[in-house]
Amino acid sequence: MSLQTKWQDLYQAALDKSFSALETIPGVILGFHSTIDGLKRVVPEQIEKILAANPALEEEVSSRLDTLPTEIRTPADLLVGLASSLQRGKALQLMITEEAVYRWVMDNLGYDQIRMGGTSGNMANFLAPLPLPRILVYANPLTKEQAELFADSENLFVINQDGELQHPHRAWSGEGIYAIHWIFEYPKGLRLKIGGEVLESPRANRFIAAWNPVNNKLQIQASFQQHLPKVLPDFSHFVVSGFHILSENYPDGTTWLDYLRPVARFLRETKNEHSHLRFHYEFASIASPAIRRGIIDHILPTVDSLGLNEVELCAILRDRGEDELAQEVESRTSLLPVLRALERLADSTGLRRIQLHDLGYYLTLVDADYASGEKTRDAMLFAATLAASRSAIGRVGTPDEIREGLNVPTASQLFPLMAELARELHEDKFMETGIAAKNGRRIVLVPTKIVAKPVLTVGLGDLISSSSFILG
Ligand code: ADP
Repeated sequence: MSLQTKWQDLYQAALDKSFSALETIPGVILGFHSTIDGLKRVVPEQIEKILAANPALEEEVSSRLDTLPTEIRTPADLLVGLASSLQRGKALQLMITEEAVYRWVMDNLGYDQIRMGGTSGNMANFLAPLPLPRILVYANPLTKEQAELFADSENLFVINQDGELQHPHRAWSGEGIYAIHWIFEYPKGLRLKIGGEVLESPRANRFIAAWNPVNNKLQIQASFQQHLPKVLPDFSHFVVSGFHILSENYPDGTTWLDYLRPVARFLRETKNEHSHLRFHYEFASIASPAIRRGIIDHILPTVDSLGLNEVELCAILRDRGEDELAQEVESRTSLLPVLRALERLADSTGLRRIQLHDLGYYLTLVDADYASGEKTRDAMLFAATLAASRSAIGRVGTPDEIREGLNVPTASQLFPLMAELARELHEDKFMETGIAAKNGRRIVLVPTKIVAKPVLTVGLGDLISSSSFILG
């Protein structure tokens, strides 16, 4: 039997098991960030016209092309961030900290389309079609516009003003858009002229500029904190994300640390008082090294599990001065440096589970007493099928539509890299099982399915991480 066939059999079996396993999961909580996304395709002519009409702006952007702002205080910061992301084909997210820039973007660039945004809001809508009994999502402020973006699914809840679980469509109060995250998407090969230079995107990706004065300080609503303990016995999993919206400094003189500490305390206390809950933190592209380090120091000790992509892993490595290892990870010629990086992260943080997702594979390190290798792998295979079907049709569909994800080819280019890892780990069966044991942990690698012409990839990482955490 070929390796392809063997893995296809594993994929098939994992999917069958996963649908029924999802029904037995008590409930999932998603915090702390739901918002509204404004989708905008990058149109070079539009930006070039703005620059032509404003030579001072063009000169400033042009002179700062090889730099990267940590947040957006001026239109130039926004365009420098966009240019940097486009030029490198790398995803990037920055906060807009001035209302004037929010208005400038609205007036000069606008958006093509509005849809659900924020990691928690998105995860809620991705997970709602799955046979999960209950999903509780944090959304503040839950205005009518925000509430309407939630899926019309019976397993979806917020905590309403009376402290009860209620579907967002019925629990909203007030109207208006108080926050918007612009997603500037660009295709591969897009050429943008700035000053005398023509930038060209080496691959399709996106630049996110977020205006979110309400959630920017990540303050968890007092009523949510007050009522949550009452409903916690009905829940088993807590997925935490959205910390990329913190700013380093605020106009009132406070800093990110003033807001990260209370969230960490809230998580720690919730975990201590409700030991049945398992916590996952989903990393995101965070421009500030200080905030990245803060999350490692304050948040990771409060959770069981971490999800991240290869870019985020390299940022963490560089923050720790491990530039050489980051470079090896980036070279993509071997998975040994990736494994080494994840092992160091697990050793230094004490995390019980870390899952990395990259195009073509997911790699998870899990403590042997947290979950079995098979359970971890099957959850990852389910996530990969889900990601494939979602990339292909642009949404998480019915069980039959998800099953179609099985027909997407598995990345066979991964097998040589997997073979190298098998030799390193002295695990004969690794190529067929994807599971190895080392230092009291299971190391689980799955080759994933790659959709050649994806319809939608934004938020795929969140879907992959949350679904494999919940099932695994
Ligand atoms: P986001 O930040 O949007 O959630 P990430 O960059 O963290 O996304 O993760 C995107 C992941 O989606 C990749 O690591 C890869 O595993 C998966 N992915 C991307 N493109 C495809 C594709 N065409 N087919 C299948 N999976 C894909």
